[in-house]
Amino acid sequence: MVLCRNCGSQTIIKTSWTATNPGRKFYCCISRRGGCGFVDWAEGPSCQRAIDVFRHFMHEQQHVTVANQASEIRHLQDEALTMAVKYTRVKMLLLFSWVFFVLYYVVH
Ligand SMILES: [Zn+2]
Repeated sequence: MVLCRNCGSQTIIKTSWTATNPGRKFYCCISRRGGCGFVDWAEGPSCQRAIDVFRHFMHEQQHVTVANQASEIRHLQDEALTMAVKYTRVKMLLLFSWVFFVLYYVVH
C-alpha cells in the first residue's frame, strides 16, 4: 500500500490511457475530501514498442466503436421510419373514427 505523500491518505492504482503513457499505472490519492490531487507513477515509462502496440490497439478500438455507432444509427433511423408510419396510421384511424362518429350522430 502506497500512502499519499501530500496528506498521508491511501492511494489507489489507476491506469493511464493517454497517448503518451498508454497502459502505464499510477497512484492516485483517495482522501475523504475527494483526493488532494496527488498522483505519481507506479511504474517506469513503457518502452516505445509497448506504446506503439497500445496506440495501434486504441486506434483499432476507435474504428470498431465508430462502426458500431454507424450501425446503431442506421438501426435507429429504420426504427424511426417505422414509428413514423405507425404514427400516421394511428392518426388516420383516429380521424376516420371521429368522422364515422359524427356521421353516425348526424344520421341518427
Ligand atoms: Zn492526498
